[in-house]
Amino acid sequence: MVASWLIEAATSYNRSSFDNRDSYSAFVLLPVRHLETILNWAFKALPDEILIGFDPLDSMKIDSEVIQTYCGAEHQSELFAGQEFVIGEPHLVNRGDSFSVHHVPEEWVDELFSAERGSRGARFTHWMHTHPNCVAIPSEADADASQHTDGVDMILGIEFSNPDGATFWFDDAEGVRRPLKPPKRSWRRFGRRIQRPILGRSSTGHRIHGLELIAYHRTGVGVNVLLVDDDGVPHGLNIV
Ligand SMILES: [Zn+2]
Repeated sequence: MVASWLIEAATSYNRSSFDNRDSYSAFVLLPVRHLETILNWAFKALPDEILIGFDPLDSMKIDSEVIQTYCGAEHQSELFAGQEFVIGEPHLVNRGDSFSVHHVPEEWVDELFSAERGSRGARFTHWMHTHPNCVAIPSEADADASQHTDGVDMILGIEFSNPDGATFWFDDAEGVRRPLKPPKRSWRRFGRRIQRPILGRSSTGHRIHGLELIAYHRTGVGVNVLLVDDDGVPHGLNIV
């Protein structure tokens, strides 16, 4: 069962994906259960970033009602590989800093790496990597790494504080921000301390203050994301 705070955040995120549908040429459907799995991996890997690979779930074609609802005016039906399917299971591929995370480790090299397919090899159709305490905006290294992606690249920005309260949030970057917001974004006072609003808690005990999720195509265009249940239905579809 996915945590209720994450379902609520996904519902409001999907609302914004719907409202902004005309700004995108395509969309992807990511099961929110996978997002929860990835968050667990991300917190265990701190302070590293993690790289995750996905393939399309061939058995789950995107429902035509979902396509009709979320297609914007600029929709392109053949922008990337796997576009007509829900995204499948996540695979943890690598961990490292913002540069090395894209470079698949030595033991994978024989199996995956070839110069034509880029630093991450080409085993998976879609990729995601995390930005711990940093906005989900692609860096130059991220843009380079995406050049060999057949599907989409995603970035998950995770704003959190450590169990002792220490935190640092880096947001000095230009680009479109796509937050998964807490329902009420207000600061609260506890005794002498002012505490930031909490979206949810990680399995490691960290307070999660916010998440950001974007997807983009190697040509640089943004791809809309919808967070779906196990049947491929976006959370909150009935309320758009
Ligand atoms: Zn990055």
